[in-house]
Amino acid sequence: KPKAEDGHALDYVNNGADSTHEKYQEGNKCSNCAFWAGEESGGWGGCRHPQFSSVLVNAEGWCNTYVPGG
Ligand code: SF4
Repeated sequence: KPKAEDGHALDYVNNGADSTHEKYQEGNKCSNCAFWAGEESGGWGGCRHPQFSSVLVNAEGWCNTYVPGG
């Protein structure tokens, strides 16, 4: 799968620390999100949310559907 680009969907960014979204909280990132499906390689992995089914997301990434618990 290709790597997601910033803005792929749901205000996604590859580095959550770059986000200025009102819902973003420091420390929130794909690798500790409930939708994270695990790393595939080099810090990129799957996301179970349907909006990201066609791409890999970055472990340090973030989107506005973040749910703690990954
Ligand atoms: Fe990352 Fe979670 Fe958003 Fe998927 S749902 S892109 S794992 S923050």
